[in-house]
Amino acid sequence: MSAPVRYVHMVATAYSGSTLLGMLLGSHPDLATVGELITPVRYGRIVQSGEPYPCSCGVPMIECAHFDALRARCRELGVELDLYDYGIKIQERGPSRHLPGAKRRAAAAVDRGRTIARALLDVTGRSVFLDTTKDLAPLPALARHPGLDLKVLHLIRDPRAFLHSTRKRQGAGAGSQTRFWRRTHEQALAAGRRLGPERFHTLRFEDLCREPERRLAEVCAFLGLPPADLLELAPRTTHHMMGNRARLAPFAGIALDETWKESLSTREQARCLRAAGPLATRFDYR
Ligand SMILES: [Zn+2]
Repeated sequence: MSAPVRYVHMVATAYSGSTLLGMLLGSHPDLATVGELITPVRYGRIVQSGEPYPCSCGVPMIECAHFDALRARCRELGVELDLYDYGIKIQERGPSRHLPGAKRRAAAAVDRGRTIARALLDVTGRSVFLDTTKDLAPLPALARHPGLDLKVLHLIRDPRAFLHSTRKRQGAGAGSQTRFWRRTHEQALAAGRRLGPERFHTLRFEDLCREPERRLAEVCAFLGLPPADLLELAPRTTHHMMGNRARLAPFAGIALDETWKESLSTREQARCLRAAGPLATRFDYR
């Protein structure tokens, strides 16, 4: 096997700024990303409605020259790429992980992801690959794979902001949403203890918004990237990403949205913090 691929996996809940952080890091001259690698866009609403899925550069993804080049390089490396579904399903949690062959299938999926990452780095001439999928499930298989030099970037946002955003978009129940927030971050931190600080870094979204230069510099140092002025580069960079709709808007700077402070009652905020448990205090959400 050739040299390990420098591979960054982002872990977060939805509505935590992962698309914004992906765009910022994707502006670094030595990092490449397609946004969410593992989530198949085939299941996205835009695809279901019959419209072509738009690349963040503005043209339909199937017409984007960047993705064309990626597909061609993947083919040279022996992987046929369906741009609407990269074919990477890594399910190593839940009951299915006990099925025979689950580990082997996960390893094969990571092999495929590694080839796609290799191809993207070849096409862009960059050296660090970032996946903004956010999902925890692939972590064990990614960490085990000898062909990856894995780093995990863990992004956390105030549970009250998360509750406000999920409720606005999905109308979901408050209790279950906060429990999901808590479970995600507890499991992420447990993975972080296994990986160690060399391979796991936590960033509070609020810190990124308040001190972007400093926090981005810390992230670049963690990823082994030379310093770069990402805030200056981001608006001038053409991105080719999949994922959240926010990727379709031009980069407009970083602003901390705190509308949850008005939309959630004092009682709802207190209940949310209680349900978030000790993690809320640990990350200074009070
Ligand atoms: Zn594009």
